[in-house]
Amino acid sequence: MITRRQAIKTTALATAALATWPSVHAQTNAAALATRPLSPFTLPPLPYAVDALEPFIDAQTMQIHHDKHHAAYVANLNKAAANLVGIDVAGPLTVEFLLQHLSNLPEQARPAVRNHGGGHYNHSLFWQMMKKNGGGEPTGELAKAMDTAFGSFSAFQAGLTHAALGQFGSGWAWLVADGKQLKIEATANQDTPLSTGRTPLLGVDVWEHAYYLKYQNKRTEYLTAWFNAVNWDFVAARFAQL
Ligand code: MN
Repeated sequence: MITRRQAIKTTALATAALATWPSVHAQTNAAALATRPLSPFTLPPLPYAVDALEPFIDAQTMQIHHDKHHAAYVANLNKAAANLVGIDVAGPLTVEFLLQHLSNLPEQARPAVRNHGGGHYNHSLFWQMMKKNGGGEPTGELAKAMDTAFGSFSAFQAGLTHAALGQFGSGWAWLVADGKQLKIEATANQDTPLSTGRTPLLGVDVWEHAYYLKYQNKRTEYLTAWFNAVNWDFVAARFAQL
């Protein structure tokens, strides 16, 4: 059982470790390791029914994408957690922390965290970046910032589509914040803008598993439809937290 006194001590250790990591990461901290769950990552439920994004994203794609693909990233990330036992960070290791410190991770754990941790993080965001009766255009401060960065909403759409089509093979296209500056970027595989210091605001999955059942090889048609599912409220909320 963890007493209140121990909990406070653990929190203090966590703060100290975060402040100085990675210089202390190789040291053993028995207290921290004892309190950190080894398999702390769980599959979040979809925030809506599997058919909520019809007709733009079909129910079967959503079900397989979430229940099989995302679930596999979580399971494999938890397996990789077994190689993270040498890291001296008290408390639960968040997937965000791991992805922000990839280069500091033990080499044997790094590829799995990059791929499966990235997959878990990207998909956890992706589900929330869409909603039933989504689409349209952003409003308020986000709309102003996007107009400043890209000229217009249609120019942004064209830019994101261009990045998504230009991503050879599997990957993502993103609206990111680099500090306060909005940018469009693409990442390969399950790489995430978080690992290069960006804040992902909106992302579109262009792995074939995201669209092949309904759109086959027609990535352009998928992208055009996908804009009708975007949850701009979620994007605006992330933008407001910058
Ligand atoms: Mn995916």
